[in-house]
Amino acid sequence: MTITTRFAPSPTGYLHVGGARTALFSWLYARKYGGQFILRIEDTDLERSTQESVNAILEGMAWLGLDYDLGPFYQTHHFDRYKEIIQQLIAQGDAYYCYCSKDELEQLRTEQMANKEKPRYNGKCRDANIVELDREPVIRFKNPVDGVVTIPDLVKGDIVVANKELDDLIIARGDGTPTYNLTVVVDDMDMKVTHVIRGDDHINNTPRQMNILNALGANLPKYAHLPMILGADGARLSKRHGAVSVMQFRDEGYLPEALLNYLVRLGWSHGDQEIFSLDEIVEYFELADVNVSASTFNMEKLLWLNHHYIMNAEPEHVARHLSWHMGQLGLDLATGPALVDVVKIQRERSKTLVEMAAASVYFYKEFESYDEKAVKKNFTAGTEHVLSSLHERLIAVTDWNAESIHDVIVNLAESMTLNMGKVAQPLRVAVCGCAVSPAIDITVELLGQEKTLARLERAISYIKTLN
Ligand code: GLU
Repeated sequence: MTITTRFAPSPTGYLHVGGARTALFSWLYARKYGGQFILRIEDTDLERSTQESVNAILEGMAWLGLDYDLGPFYQTHHFDRYKEIIQQLIAQGDAYYCYCSKDELEQLRTEQMANKEKPRYNGKCRDANIVELDREPVIRFKNPVDGVVTIPDLVKGDIVVANKELDDLIIARGDGTPTYNLTVVVDDMDMKVTHVIRGDDHINNTPRQMNILNALGANLPKYAHLPMILGADGARLSKRHGAVSVMQFRDEGYLPEALLNYLVRLGWSHGDQEIFSLDEIVEYFELADVNVSASTFNMEKLLWLNHHYIMNAEPEHVARHLSWHMGQLGLDLATGPALVDVVKIQRERSKTLVEMAAASVYFYKEFESYDEKAVKKNFTAGTEHVLSSLHERLIAVTDWNAESIHDVIVNLAESMTLNMGKVAQPLRVAVCGCAVSPAIDITVELLGQEKTLARLERAISYIKTLN
């Protein structure tokens, strides 16, 4: 039997981290067991589904590197098949037309609530065999009345639900369109899904779906319901807790492997190991190790992981992601050093790629103004002389590298009986516009001789305006 899992998002918004975690766990399970992972877009709610949202899901999956073996399938392409199954259920006596009006159902609901009963359909049309042609009927599934359904849940253990708790579910609306529980069942059956891994907000649907599968004589998949993700305040994770869309994490400067590593640990553990390569995750992952209770999203930890990956991933890989951020800032990378060299000198001080990009602008573009504090502290009487002497010496350097630049700084400081910082700091402000940068000799090397000299000239003229 080929293990087959699926991720089945409804395209009614962006790809949320909760959805991404569901996708990741489904993907992992298929990868671990050499199975198949399917992407299925559940777009039957025509009013709420948008192409923009489909694109956001595909973009998020691609950015995370969650590749699928089959799909994307679109449920709107399967309407004929759903109709066929609905007719089959009617023909075999497992579904029926229900003519109860909205008003009748509303009244029933009000009565049940007043009697402190759980609101549910009373089965009025179940055995009535009404054929009333002037009103569009819905179609309901004839749920078994006796017995129990046992969900073999791989995370939560067996969950037992009595059939008398379940009423007859609508499987087709008045206009003939199928409802969620029917479409999921048909596709899971047709796609031979062996493991349904999804959020535990679907637990209530599962016994109903199992009953329909049974009526169709289909094999039942195994289920794994994943606990919710909460914000730091204990409420369900939402926009007001900060970034929740996968692409927003990209925009805020996270590497996909940091988010994946974070998401896998959110509700799953392997001893107390925190950092996993993808291969390790695939090797160690087991649904049985998924936590039963909800997990809390911790931005600090994600940031820590991001810094780890920025520091330890191949610089070429980080540079590929950084180049997107540099593009967002409108920088032309052809006008400065190789980005991979920038990554190597910036990564220690950058927790996100947004920080790294912002701190690297001066390599590719003239900064607009000097940082005021840096100027106050470092452009003082005598600085003009230091910078012109530096200019004189740097212009003469024929082998432009960190070592020769370092020598120029040290020698100048000695000859002027200044400590090194009195030379290096004004130089830094002159070339970067601010008082913070990686080691000055490497920064200046990467910036290049021509730009360095031009910026020294600019600083010298600027200092003149201060007096
Ligand atoms: N389309 C459903 C959702 O986005 C998921 C259905 C399922 O996984 O069974 O919540």
